[in-house]
Amino acid sequence: MKKFYQCEICDTLYASEEKALACEALGFNPLYEIDDKVMYEGAVVIITHRSICELTHAFIYRFSMNAEDNPGKILSSCGWQNEEKLSPQHNLQGCA
Ligand SMILES: [Zn+2]
Repeated sequence: MKKFYQCEICDTLYASEEKALACEALGFNPLYEIDDKVMYEGAVVIITHRSICELTHAFIYRFSMNAEDNPGKILSSCGWQNEEKLSPQHNLQGCA
């Protein structure tokens, strides 16, 4: 029988307890929540899904775009995007 230790945050399985504990020590620190409005490629988007990456605990997001927030804009890419591609909406408002 083989025994595994599982990170409770990202569900990765490890053969040693130390590695699983080290993975959990990375914590759970997403920058954005579901329904947050953030900036992506100059457009205001609304986060619809969030997922955590195994091993790194980095976060990826899916989002949708409201036409009224972005007159005339079309999102060129969809699907999951890395957290660093998004930025808080209030950054732009601060410059206005
Ligand atoms: Zn983990």
